[in-house]
Amino acid sequence: MANTSDVIIIGGGIIGAATGYYLAKAGLKVRLFERGYLCSGSTGRCIGGVRQQFTSESSIKLMMRSVELFSEMGRELGTEVHWHPGGYLFLAHDESKKRAFLSNIAVQQSAGLKDVRWVDAAEVRELFSLVETRGLLGGSYCPSDGQAYPFAVVGGYAGKIRELGGSVHAFTEVAGILQEGGRAKGIKTAAGQEHYSNIVINCAGPWARDVGRLGGIEVPVEPERHEALITEGVEYLGMPMLVDYRTDGGYFQQFRHNGQFIGCYTPQPNVPGTSSESTYGFLREMPRRMLKLVPALGEVKVIRQWAGSYEMTPDGNPIVDRTGLGGLYVVAGMCGHGFMLGPAVGEAAAEFIRTGSRGGLLADFALERAFSSREAMK
Ligand SMILES: Cc1cc2nc3c(=O)[nH]c(=O)nc-3n(C[C@H](O)[C@H](O)[C@H](O)COP(=O)(O)OP(=O)(O)OC[C@H]3O[C@@H](n4cnc5c(N)ncnc54)[C@H](O)[C@@H]3O)c2cc1C
Repeated sequence: MANTSDVIIIGGGIIGAATGYYLAKAGLKVRLFERGYLCSGSTGRCIGGVRQQFTSESSIKLMMRSVELFSEMGRELGTEVHWHPGGYLFLAHDESKKRAFLSNIAVQQSAGLKDVRWVDAAEVRELFSLVETRGLLGGSYCPSDGQAYPFAVVGGYAGKIRELGGSVHAFTEVAGILQEGGRAKGIKTAAGQEHYSNIVINCAGPWARDVGRLGGIEVPVEPERHEALITEGVEYLGMPMLVDYRTDGGYFQQFRHNGQFIGCYTPQPNVPGTSSESTYGFLREMPRRMLKLVPALGEVKVIRQWAGSYEMTPDGNPIVDRTGLGGLYVVAGMCGHGFMLGPAVGEAAAEFIRTGSRGGLLADFALERAFSSREAMK
């Protein structure tokens, strides 16, 4: 049948594109459907940070694998993805944060992340002289963390899916999941076209709950709105991603390839929903927070702001699993870390979907779980 493939993927962000690539690489014919342009969801709205500093062994190991995949990605996909291991520095301005970071570092090192370490304020000054160190006790620093460019990564995966015999259908909304005898049999687009496959994968990010419901499945993913901004490009200053967890802190880094600073902060209280409206409040506040940490940025101009969604599960960990509808899988709920998790999650999810074997990396990511633990390095 003309409209038949081995796999249908719903969602053209990093998770759909990476999962699709690894399935195509294993020889399966993949069709990927995206209702907007590729990266129009969260992926194109993220700030491109990639770190291994997490608090659970499974997330640390998964992210170590992702970093390996990011570092080989340019060669693997045959395109520049702007991977740059510029490091991440989590800042501690009080003793309790310092204690927490020191205990996280011990967990991270015992999970195999050898280059993460505590740096005191004097060393921060020595390494990154532009960072304001008044009131700083030090930080958790991992130089092998880094950055990549989301549009290039997703474009690279999508190009490879096509090259390997699959297809990518942008501006094609999935409006229904076809079912027969208690199994998924394909999808129906909003324009009424049917496409058939025995495997359908929900990679719809913040919309994973809506897409799950097309198959009668509840997926516990709640969208949460986050704003971001980007500056003009300036000379590369060689700083890591700075993460400041204080209530008036934020996260930002400078892209190595074009010199633009990009950053965001987590609003308090959290803002539920998928609204992509951006606010004047954020535009006023974010530069102030950046200047507090790096006063030298005073002359750098903000050129754009936007909003997107984190895709939160109750315990801060992803969901990668089969569902109660045969043939329907879910790979979603990356909780604001989906860009960095994408390569390793895509690879592991593809292996699970092909072979049925979950492997150690996906152990904590079942759809039916207690959702009781919490990731602390959000
Ligand atoms: C401001 C901000 C900063 C961030 N910074 C980082 C960061 O530095 N590092 C990091 O790792 N993560 C970061 N994130 C989180 C990251 O962007 C997400 O976790 C990740 O992009 C999720 O990828 P995804 O593929 O699951 O979802 P998405 O990229 O949202 O892809 C899902 C796609 O599904 C499509 N879709 C939905 N319903 C349908 C349908 N019915 N039919 C067809 N298509 C459909 C959507 O249009 C969307 O494009 C940030 C997020 C935000 C908002």
